[in-house]
Amino acid sequence: MSLNCRLTKTCLALLGGIFLPATSYADDVCTYSDWAWHSEQGRAFDYQDVRTTRGQLSDAQQHPTLHCSICREDQADITLSNGLTVQVCAIVAGRIERALEDSLNAGFQVQTLTGYRVGRTRGPLNESGLRTKYSNHSFGVAIDVNANANGLYGRCVEWGPECRLRRGGQWDPQNPLSISPDKDVYHLMKRAGFHWGGELNGRQKDFMHFSLTGD
Ligand SMILES: [Zn+2]
Repeated sequence: MSLNCRLTKTCLALLGGIFLPATSYADDVCTYSDWAWHSEQGRAFDYQDVRTTRGQLSDAQQHPTLHCSICREDQADITLSNGLTVQVCAIVAGRIERALEDSLNAGFQVQTLTGYRVGRTRGPLNESGLRTKYSNHSFGVAIDVNANANGLYGRCVEWGPECRLRRGGQWDPQNPLSISPDKDVYHLMKRAGFHWGGELNGRQKDFMHFSLTGD
């Protein structure tokens, strides 16, 4: 058995058999607020506040490689020296906090942050037209910085006038609040292991977005 195994029920049962009393982890309370995105209508549906146990989570509700799930109980609060707070997965909170704090110290203004936010915003559509896969924000392993100056663009294989703003505010590398490779926040977040959404392959550029896996 690999100790590297994913946070699945089988894995936990195996680990539990060795290290833990049989039911301790799977019985832990897990709470979250969920919804699914309707791409065509451009809004969220299927809101629900859920209280369950970890043992009831599906594989899709847990990050494939990190011990971060959609459970609020996996998240930690970060408070920056400028008073902003954000919730992210506890095991990445330390390095995100350091990178953002160092960005502030280097003179980059952080005005808004969004981290943990459970929602099905990716993947195939179901019969109701709703997305079916959880975003990286759902596990607290992605963070959006200054959304009002770092929009999400579609039809944007390369940056140019054909790119269409879908969410957030206009990106302008001359704007001190916008993220670009000449800003300290870009290098500090990269050093912390995060990919920048402004460098996504494909048709989207998500300038506000940093994630561990680049999506
Ligand atoms: Zn994001």
